[in-house]
Amino acid sequence: MGRKVIVITLSLMVIRKSAAAILAFAALFFLLLFSISAVASSPGSVSASAREREANAQKFVEHSLRVWQQRLNLTGWDVKVALVRPSELEPKTLGNIHWDLDTRNATIDVLSAYDYTMPTHEMLDDMEFTIVHELVHLQLATLPKNASSVRNEEYAVNQIARALIDLEKRAIPSE
Ligand SMILES: [Zn+2]
Repeated sequence: MGRKVIVITLSLMVIRKSAAAILAFAALFFLLLFSISAVASSPGSVSASAREREANAQKFVEHSLRVWQQRLNLTGWDVKVALVRPSELEPKTLGNIHWDLDTRNATIDVLSAYDYTMPTHEMLDDMEFTIVHELVHLQLATLPKNASSVRNEEYAVNQIARALIDLEKRAIPSE
């Protein structure tokens, strides 16, 4: 009986030793991989330019919000804008707005630049559309809502937002 116990203990030690060796090799391998990727992506890396794109998008949406808030005569509201990841939005949406009619506070969430695959110029146009769209919703905040009015409102808000942006683009020649 005693021997059996010893044998089992020894074989466990062997397993532990080889497991330690495998772990050590794996650690070395990943360390090597990590240092190679760190060297490959040091200056002007994708993540640095992605961070810059996000920072520029943040500035853009803040400016865009102020401009359209004034145009839509919503300056009585304290409106904030945040860039958010898809997990904070409804599926297949690019933004949303939450408001409090009593305190006149509102927050617009816009899909983060990290999650946009289109070129920067088109992405910013799209973000501007989201802001105008959500501000038109805010303009309609006091209207009664029900299940069927929400869909109709969504359609109307898109038409109004599109018309406003088209007017603005025509007023200021791009070239
Ligand atoms: Zn909407």
